[in-house]
Amino acid sequence: MPTLFQQIQAGTLWDFHGGIHPPVRKSQTSSKPVAQLPLPDRLYLPLRQHIGVAGRLIVAVGQRVLKGEALTSADNSMAVPVHAPTSGVIHSISQHTSAHPSALPEPVIVLVPDGKDEWRERRPLNIATSSRHQILERIQDSGIAGMGGAGFPTHLKAGMQQPVDYLIINAVECEPYISADDALMQEAPTTIVKGIDILCQLLNPKAVLIGIEADKPIAIAALKAACSQREHYYVREVPVKYPSGGEKQLIQLLTNKEVPAGRRPADIGIVMQNVGTAFAIAQAVLDDQPLISRIVTVTGETLRQPQNVLALLGTPVSALLDFCGFQSEAQQKVIMGGPMMGFTLPDLAVPIVKTTNCILAPTRDELPDNGPELDCIRCGQCADACPATLLPQQLLWYSKARDPVKLQEYNLFDCIECGACAYVCPSEIPLVQYYRVAKAEIREQQREALKAEQAKARFEARNARLEQEKQQRLARNQQLAAARQQTQPNQNQTVAEALARVKAQQAEKAALQATESAKDHQQILAERELKKQQAREYQAQKQATAAASAADSALASASDSSVDSKAAAVAAAIARAKARQADAASSPTVEQTSAAEPTTPEAADPRQAAVAAALARAKARQAGQTNSTMAEPSAIAAEPEQQDPRKAAIAAALARAKAKQSVTATAATTVTEPVAADAVAKPEDPRKAAIAAALARAKAKQSAAPAQETAIVKPDVADIAVTTEQQRQAADTAIQPDAAGNEDPRKAAVAAALARAKARKAQQSIEQQTTEQQHSEQRDSEESKTE
Ligand code: SF4
Ligand code: SF4
Repeated sequence: MPTLFQQIQAGTLWDFHGGIHPPVRKSQTSSKPVAQLPLPDRLYLPLRQHIGVAGRLIVAVGQRVLKGEALTSADNSMAVPVHAPTSGVIHSISQHTSAHPSALPEPVIVLVPDGKDEWRERRPLNIATSSRHQILERIQDSGIAGMGGAGFPTHLKAGMQQPVDYLIINAVECEPYISADDALMQEAPTTIVKGIDILCQLLNPKAVLIGIEADKPIAIAALKAACSQREHYYVREVPVKYPSGGEKQLIQLLTNKEVPAGRRPADIGIVMQNVGTAFAIAQAVLDDQPLISRIVTVTGETLRQPQNVLALLGTPVSALLDFCGFQSEAQQKVIMGGPMMGFTLPDLAVPIVKTTNCILAPTRDELPDNGPELDCIRCGQCADACPATLLPQQLLWYSKARDPVKLQEYNLFDCIECGACAYVCPSEIPLVQYYRVAKAEIREQQREALKAEQAKARFEARNARLEQEKQQRLARNQQLAAARQQTQPNQNQTVAEALARVKAQQAEKAALQATESAKDHQQILAERELKKQQAREYQAQKQATAAASAADSALASASDSSVDSKAAAVAAAIARAKARQADAASSPTVEQTSAAEPTTPEAADPRQAAVAAALARAKARQAGQTNSTMAEPSAIAAEPEQQDPRKAAIAAALARAKAKQSVTATAATTVTEPVAADAVAKPEDPRKAAIAAALARAKAKQSAAPAQETAIVKPDVADIAVTTEQQRQAADTAIQPDAAGNEDPRKAAVAAALARAKARKAQQSIEQQTTEQQHSEQRDSEESKTE
């Protein structure tokens, strides 16, 4: 029995389950040459045009780019870049309707062609001298992804490390209407074979199987001619049956191998590439021409010239339709892809991308809409037509029930969305639409689950990191605590010493403050006592001076009025009264009064005041003796005059004149001197000055009164009254408050009492002198009569 490889070499073909035979309708375009589409006004280039991730944007708005210049860079294995299909300027980078059944907007680069179609520098590779890595890198940098419709990055398939038995080139193109690969094989079979050569250099398969449907005779002939020089290149004509172009179906057709559910063809040693992908690889490696254009079948009965066109990627669908004479009708639908696996476009501005192989604009009669959806009658025709040996009926139920577990249990993801089940369904149930929605929901759930799992992993990693940091922190703290415990005694001793120093400083400061306070207090007391002593001394000196001044005044008065012994006697009496007043100043009454005013100078030293008073009385007695001695000659001298009445009268008149003069002089002297003395001695006590002034005036009057009495012989009662009245006024004046209003009632009362006492004494002295004068006159008269 021949081996599998021998059977393959012999051209044996196998079959797959299911499949349908829809109208082909390829003849509208397959026999026509590929047309060159003119440059559109703008190109809309999605950043991602394949299965994978988008590249990193490397151009900016306003930048001029050359044809073939990369607009994005592939920074990971699942990314392939996009290139400028022609030279021009980047107009904008914005959102645009995507070439996807969801029609969701996606980021696109808007390029405005400049019409120059200026190429960048190209650097073709020599595959004989280039390394595998260089070739794979060139394939990736050229942005090549599967052009059969899946869009898987080609460099990943071409760079697989697993051993490859068979490299299958898919040139079946089983979908009705589509003839792009057919046209490509007819026009560029040699380039296709060169691309297959590059793949074989990368994968090193045992054989290359090129599968082409039998309804493409021109392409089959062209490829057989191109492969005639390759030993293990086998061009196989497969029967026309839909979907014989499916990956798993074609593998089964050519190798009789089935790819297990959930596995890849590489797992069974098979790699499949589209014939258009092989062509793109050849261009990229040998001509350094990235994937910037592709052949697109523009067909449908609404077009005047349906044909295959070579369109730049990013060209709006409307441009292709317009180029082919599009005549839309009411409720016109335009399908991207074939009638079995394509999707209706929501917008004709959708651009051509790397996986776009057909634009179908059929009339309503040509491709009528599905009728109203009916309930499943469980006829089983869908299962019979399914090339993946699935159970479309069960998948429908679970899709409606949104049961992902059951859907995956029934191998929903093995469905190639060929649409064969829906094509045969008598209830016109859009089965493929249900499956697409179910797949999208499950993929979304899987993405969310993956995110949750990643988030959980990050959370757990974070917790682990925090726990590790916590343990490290605890360990570090324990080490620090241990180190502190070792150094603790020294630290405690240092702190105790510092505290002791602080306490010592505080105690020293407190003692210093106490010493200074005591010193200040003692100093204050000493200064106060010294001031008191000085005040007492000053007061005693002042009183002695006042007493001496009073005695001197009395002596002076007596001396000035020596003509009249009576006036001298009065002066002596006044001196004695002043002495008694000085005694009164030191009496207990005054002391008690002064005790209420400890600051008064008179209360300084009573004993000194008594001594001063005694001295004053002695001076007064001396003055009285002197006056008495001096008055006797006058009396004797007056005796002869009294013998003559006229002489006596004249002598009396002269005596009165002298007395008046003496009164005037004495008053001036006695008034001025005591006041001046008091002003000097007691400038600070106006009340005492007033008292002294009153006393001085009284003494002046007393001095004047004897002189008048001596001159007139008979005392004048009116003068006596005047004198006593003046003394009372002096007493009243003495008790008047000073100008400052510093009235002391007790002192005023004492001064008034003294003044009244002086007045009474003065009156008594005058009366006594008057009486003695009368007695003297009577005695003189009796003596005269006796003589
Ligand atoms: S072909 Fe349609 S009606 Fe028949 S079983 Fe399948 S889904 Fe139901
Ligand atoms: S669309 Fe899916 S379920 Fe339907 S026939 Fe194709 S592979 Fe089978």
